Amino acid sequence: MSKKKTTFNISKTNNFSEWYSEILNKAEIVDLRYGVKGFVVIRPWGARIIDKMYRIYESALRCTGHEAAIFPAVIPEKNFKRESSHVEGFAPEVFWLDKKQGDERLALRPTSETAFYEMYNLWIRSYRDLPLKIYQRANVFRNETKATRPLIRSREFHWIESHDAFATKKDAEAQVRDDIVMTEEVMHKIFGVPFLPMRRPQWDKFPGAEYTIGSDSILPDGKVIQQPSTHLISQHFVKAFDVKFVNEVEKERTPWLTCYGPCMSRILASVISVHGDDNGLVLPYTIAPVQVVVVPFYGEDSKKVKEMVEKIQKDLFGEHIDVRVDDSDKRSGEKFFYWEMKGVPFRVEVGEKELANGEVTVFIRDSRERVSVKVGDLVESIKNLGAEYDSRLLARADEFFEGKVVECKDKVGVKKALNSGKVVRFAFCSADVEGAECAGFVEKELEARVMGTRADVGEKVVGKCVVCGKKAGVVVYVGKSY
Ligand SMILES: [Zn+2]
Repeated sequence: MSKKKTTFNISKTNNFSEWYSEILNKAEIVDLRYGVKGFVVIRPWGARIIDKMYRIYESALRCTGHEAAIFPAVIPEKNFKRESSHVEGFAPEVFWLDKKQGDERLALRPTSETAFYEMYNLWIRSYRDLPLKIYQRANVFRNETKATRPLIRSREFHWIESHDAFATKKDAEAQVRDDIVMTEEVMHKIFGVPFLPMRRPQWDKFPGAEYTIGSDSILPDGKVIQQPSTHLISQHFVKAFDVKFVNEVEKERTPWLTCYGPCMSRILASVISVHGDDNGLVLPYTIAPVQVVVVPFYGEDSKKVKEMVEKIQKDLFGEHIDVRVDDSDKRSGEKFFYWEMKGVPFRVEVGEKELANGEVTVFIRDSRERVSVKVGDLVESIKNLGAEYDSRLLARADEFFEGKVVECKDKVGVKKALNSGKVVRFAFCSADVEGAECAGFVEKELEARVMGTRADVGEKVVGKCVVCGKKAGVVVYVGKSY
């Protein structure tokens, strides 16, 4: 009989790429054997994390006045064609259906502005209909030509898209700022994924937007991964869909639209990468599919242990804590390894000896500490330990993140920093079209991307553009990206 491996044993720091592929497989997050490039099966363990993330995000959206809807997955070609930059931007990535409607082609949605606005044209009549804030939980499809990477760059991804309409530009811009706050409150504070809010350069905004504010998180190898973006949609786009309303004094006006797209499958990639360690997954307590695994140790009096395990399970379940009992006949070492690798925050060991003192042992996944807890205090203890657990993960992620961003003054320094897995901050000529040429250099010569300028703080620039030597107008952040 072959002995099962009892350590995960791949260094996340030294070999992130292998670690990532291996953990997705071992922890049963995704299965890549479906047989269609860029499409993966998300297995129950991954699906449950994503579901918990969806619930938290949707509840945050409802708290800020959004309502849910469900839109069709197909979009008629004429909708795409209404706004030229949008069709140009998305056309290369669209999956067209073979089956037409009459003469018209139908697209599988790559994003749903053109589906929502079709209906906003009918739903928005008067200022009383505004603001209108609707989101949907959806999968969208983009025929990525670049190499795909599970959860990071796929041809199908699972996100929320919210499409909001306002009477004034001021209200719409306030929503864009609120979207960034939501990314901070949910993705950073709850899921523990730090990010830089970036106003995208003009050449990299959403096709059809006046401007885009993205958020970039950083993976352990220093590569940047794009997280939720929010966009102020251009009036040209809104007019193309003929969305209008009548204001308080009976004058016809065009509303201002925004959209926001947090992608759960991609955030999961960051959660896994940022928190995991050499023993496997480490998941925030709040979104772990199983928060507590109970492992019984049977001795002389198995009845007593069994009864206690049942009581613990019932108590935890009664407080909405996701609990599972591992009653399998695997060796305890195997059980420990398995649940640690799956990222379960707490393991409760129930054995006769401790029960004699009215205690159980709690093993804490991230710190690998063991603490004794009185059976009567277990539920409260788990709740407290859970909150501490998530703050610890957040603090660790923030510390990592801060060490990843460096400042450079010249091309050589920038190149060196990028190649050593850093995101670099430097003086740059312009984030408007005039800067596109220097951005081209960054892309070609440095194999990196100009992420943009800080959207949350104003950064003063001095000196010259590190690339062309002309007077610098902005401070940009540049990183290698997925
Ligand atoms: Zn320049």
